[in-house]
Amino acid sequence: MKTSATAFSPVANYINGAAINDPLPSMDVISPLDGTVISKVPLSKRETLNKAVESAQKAFPAWSGQTLKERVQVFFRFRQLLEKNLEELSKLIVAENGKTLDEARAEVFKGMELCEFTCSLPQIVRDEVQEVSQGIECRTSHHPLGVVASITPFNFPHMVPMWTIPNALALGNCMIVKPSEMVPLSMQRIAQLLSEAGLPPGVFNIVNGDRQIVEAICDHPDIKAVSFVGSTRVAKIVYQRAGSNLKRVLCMGGAKNHLIVLPDANTEISAANIAASMSGCAGQRCMAASAMVGVGKVDHIVAAICEEARKIVPGENLGAVITAEAKARIERYIDEAEREGAKILVDGRNVSVPGQEGGFYVGPTVIDYVRPDMKIAQEEVFGPVLSIMRTDDVDEAIRIENASPYGNAASVFTQNGKMADYVTERVSAGMAGVNIGVPVPREPFSFGGWNESRFGVGDITGHSSIGFWTQLKKTTTKWNPEAWKDWMS
Ligand code: NAD
Repeated sequence: MKTSATAFSPVANYINGAAINDPLPSMDVISPLDGTVISKVPLSKRETLNKAVESAQKAFPAWSGQTLKERVQVFFRFRQLLEKNLEELSKLIVAENGKTLDEARAEVFKGMELCEFTCSLPQIVRDEVQEVSQGIECRTSHHPLGVVASITPFNFPHMVPMWTIPNALALGNCMIVKPSEMVPLSMQRIAQLLSEAGLPPGVFNIVNGDRQIVEAICDHPDIKAVSFVGSTRVAKIVYQRAGSNLKRVLCMGGAKNHLIVLPDANTEISAANIAASMSGCAGQRCMAASAMVGVGKVDHIVAAICEEARKIVPGENLGAVITAEAKARIERYIDEAEREGAKILVDGRNVSVPGQEGGFYVGPTVIDYVRPDMKIAQEEVFGPVLSIMRTDDVDEAIRIENASPYGNAASVFTQNGKMADYVTERVSAGMAGVNIGVPVPREPFSFGGWNESRFGVGDITGHSSIGFWTQLKKTTTKWNPEAWKDWMS
């Protein structure tokens, strides 16, 4: 494998506020843009995780002893540092993940928005107090859990870790992050910026590696909670393993998002939204439009989607997919759909970007007359591919959506408000949309799917994350000795 002319220094683990370069086996970090090696990532062992947990445990009493208002001061400064370093952070994302610079910038902006929510936590986290009977008072207070862990995927090297890091830390926990071994670079810079923002050593730690470290996290007796974002296959493994070790667990899994398109939908708006949703981040988003169900006469909308898709050019406004294997897998799905009788309207197979021939590119692909029983209609493709199914009945379209084992997002395109309500009420997805291709709830609303797109209780961001990263203490107080004695306060 060729080494890039613009390689980065080898990735380090980050423990107790310092980069640790212990000799460990390592793996190449490969840029999807041209297939060159841009760095090396250590494949850490359990001992490294143990050291990180020890350092987090040591840091916990002082960090959790601060007030919430004191702790969020770090995130006010951190948010400003993200803005100051926007271009550098965005270029790192591009190098390791292969998305476009605009998409990378959007990811960093989203990171800032997540921080802004964190900064507002003192205004949001409400403890309650009430006189529950004469002279007796009950109050609640939120407490951190201790050392917690966050395991993240390759598709958002910056944003997905930011779903968990600022909230978990501001709420008083100390954290171990295990980034995807395919995209470990962004997290290195985030550690430096957190330190620059004033986060004490040991509060935030990074342990790089593969499934061995994930398994070690699930097994470690001193890690109290685990959040995971990645494929459904691994989400199930982590949910079961960490759960069987009695940890609090929240796992976000894969997706197969359906768009139900009615003939009265605005052609231009629908086509632009659907094409952007299926191709943004090269389709490697858990919120990407993947399966469209056209209800009735929607040929004009399908034609407009194809027109939009043809404006999307690999290497210009379409990034690369993560690996050569991912490219081959996506193209296999397309081949198989074609063999089974689907019609390829826009074909993204076998594309190559001049000057980046070693890159892993798949062009935008629109496939019509896909049947619900085909593999491409059922499985997560995770590439810039839209499969279109046809029906004459909106209830049948809803049945197709409901039959998916996933349940991240579903959108309806129509100009009829009553029909929009009818569909959104019936889709089996945690994030529903009307005339929008990527119905991501923005802060303070929380992010989370249903069914096999999420295992655990609650969502991963917004208000919901407060419950996940804290535990409630209920304190009952009686100072007046003359208060009525009873079997209950
Ligand atoms: P992945 O499941 O392969 O990897 C996620 C993490 O798990 C990585 O850190 C990886 O090192 C680790 N891992 C991989 N295999 C493992 C195993 N066998 N045992 C233990 N740990 C293992 O996911 P990915 O390919 O990095 O990311 C893409 C997937 O993530 C897609 O399915 C996408 O839909 C999903 N995703 C979901 C959401 C959501 O919020 N629902 C958000 C982003 C991505």
